Amino acid sequence: MIPLSVPFIKGKAWNYVKDCLDTGWVSSVGSYVKRFEEAIAQEGGRPYAVACVNGTSALHTALMTAGITAGDEVIMPALTFAAPAFAVSYCGAYPVFMDVEKQYWQIDVNKLESFLRNHCDYRRRQLYNRTTKRPVKAVIAVHLLGHPADMMPIMALARKYNLVVIEDAAESIGASYKGRKVGGIGHIGCFSFNGNKIMTAGGGGMMVTDNKSWAKRAKYLTTQSKDDELEYIHHEVGYNYRLCNIQAALGLSQLEQLGGFIAAKKRISMRYARGLKDIQGLTLPQLAPWADAYTWLYTVLIDNKIFSRNSRQLLTYLEQQGIQTRPLWRPLHLLKPYQKCLTYQVSVAVDLYQRALSLPSSVNLSPKDQCRVIDAIQKGLR
Ligand SMILES: *Cc1c(COP(=O)(O)O)cnc(C)c1O
Repeated sequence: MIPLSVPFIKGKAWNYVKDCLDTGWVSSVGSYVKRFEEAIAQEGGRPYAVACVNGTSALHTALMTAGITAGDEVIMPALTFAAPAFAVSYCGAYPVFMDVEKQYWQIDVNKLESFLRNHCDYRRRQLYNRTTKRPVKAVIAVHLLGHPADMMPIMALARKYNLVVIEDAAESIGASYKGRKVGGIGHIGCFSFNGNKIMTAGGGGMMVTDNKSWAKRAKYLTTQSKDDELEYIHHEVGYNYRLCNIQAALGLSQLEQLGGFIAAKKRISMRYARGLKDIQGLTLPQLAPWADAYTWLYTVLIDNKIFSRNSRQLLTYLEQQGIQTRPLWRPLHLLKPYQKCLTYQVSVAVDLYQRALSLPSSVNLSPKDQCRVIDAIQKGLR
């Protein structure tokens, strides 16, 4: 079976993890957590980083830190893995689902602008959704599939309407927007080190920011809100979200490989582009002029009218050939917990969901296996 995306463990992973085991520093205190935080902060071009148990908890922490509370609204793309919506729900807040644009599949900044201008009111430095009357407090800009969202207009709108911008860079660590690393552009950036991401810590996440007091607050919240360690005094409900040293050790070793991993993803992307470009009716991923990106999962769109197989039928065919592929995420407003949430002109997200298929994209995918995938797609679509 050729898998979709699996970890590639190399470099100093064994040494670092062994060091944790040998020294007994295996839990949430230890030098690797600090080293990993510093290295990720540097990667994102930020002074502060706070490690979390996973990307979802990093997003939750980011939202709490930014002051998102029950009854607030947070804008995000309808097409993404559900984690950012879940994080909003943990706060008792409501997501507002925005469409993505056709070309690069990122949050549609024109529709975002039109929503803010035509469907919200701005009073005393606070934006309100005219339909629900709720305060609109933040935007989660998700950088999808290794490609950055168009951040400049998002930041301009955020300044105009006093919104916090949280970047969900879980799928795109190391990619750049106009020369700036993703996660380092908004007010807060979040990363994930889950096993299927480009680099892994087994599981893990990180929140990065320029704001010292926010970083301090994030650390406080993620370590059980301890106000007096000795006397067990907590003035607030805390969260046990702290990454452990073993995970950080693995994560640090992977971060040291990130440049090589990105280069590998770019080679995979080039080989797919070369092998699939002549198939009429197959749309390949495009690179925006603002982006230095990679394809975390190389994803193609299949035109139902041209081929005998649609994306799901091709998925089944490839599975029979021992090749794992996946559709993109079901748009969030179609999921049970979010069916009552507000959406804004969501149509592209639904179209992409129906037509997209992500192809095997592991960092260590061999050219030989990739040829097998390309051949199977050509046969499957004939
Ligand atoms: C993977 C992912 C997350 C969540 O990360 P976990 O570490 O799995 O909790 C968040 N957002 C997006 C867009 C993701 O792809």
